[in-house]
Amino acid sequence: MQPTILTIATNNKHKAQEIAAMLPPGFVVRTLADYPQIPEIEENGSTFAANARLKACGVSAVVPGLVLADDSGLCVDALQGAPGVFSARYAGEHGNDAANNAKLLADLASPALQCSPPFTARFMCAMCLAENGCIRADFIGKVEGHITLTPAGCGGFGYDPLFVPAGYACTMAELPPAEKNRISHRADALGQVVGFLSSQASSLRA
Ligand code: IMP
Repeated sequence: MQPTILTIATNNKHKAQEIAAMLPPGFVVRTLADYPQIPEIEENGSTFAANARLKACGVSAVVPGLVLADDSGLCVDALQGAPGVFSARYAGEHGNDAANNAKLLADLASPALQCSPPFTARFMCAMCLAENGCIRADFIGKVEGHITLTPAGCGGFGYDPLFVPAGYACTMAELPPAEKNRISHRADALGQVVGFLSSQASSLRA
């Protein structure tokens, strides 16, 4: 059978690596690094799903084949869901993980905060699959947990050193990559994407 070419609409190499590692055999992954001519797509949606749609549609209008976009982030209950869609630029500069983590800890240490630990939180991942500029399907994945005030671990990326998944006694950044890729919000959403694509392939064969 011919492999399925899947373009991941991201410049975030961590996300692309995790998605590539989680896909079953039969997929060939491309990323925006393979299409340097595509201009940056503004992520101005108010939800993860809206931003995933913007990226998937924008990229699939100019790239052949299936395009998968991932918009993801951390939602902390004590902060009314922040950083949320602003996760990548919570402290101002896009993608500055150290500054974002420092701001999150500072916000949770604020005397104005009405809540006390454990600070329940979840990682959310919206994925959108598109082709020829049109949406094929949307998916939402999540993983529940809490925020530790003591960062630990050097695996993963982003807020992983601060996030303790429910049922674990260590942070996401302390887990082996294969374990993160088994339980993460991204794994949850991608499992649904793969299920959707295989059900479409089998209905075409029937
Ligand atoms: P996006 O590229 O606009 O979707 O922003 C994603 C941001 O959410 C990243 O820059 C991280 O701060 C955070 N994030 C998303 N997924 C993860 C993850 O798996 N671990 C840690 N942080 C994540």
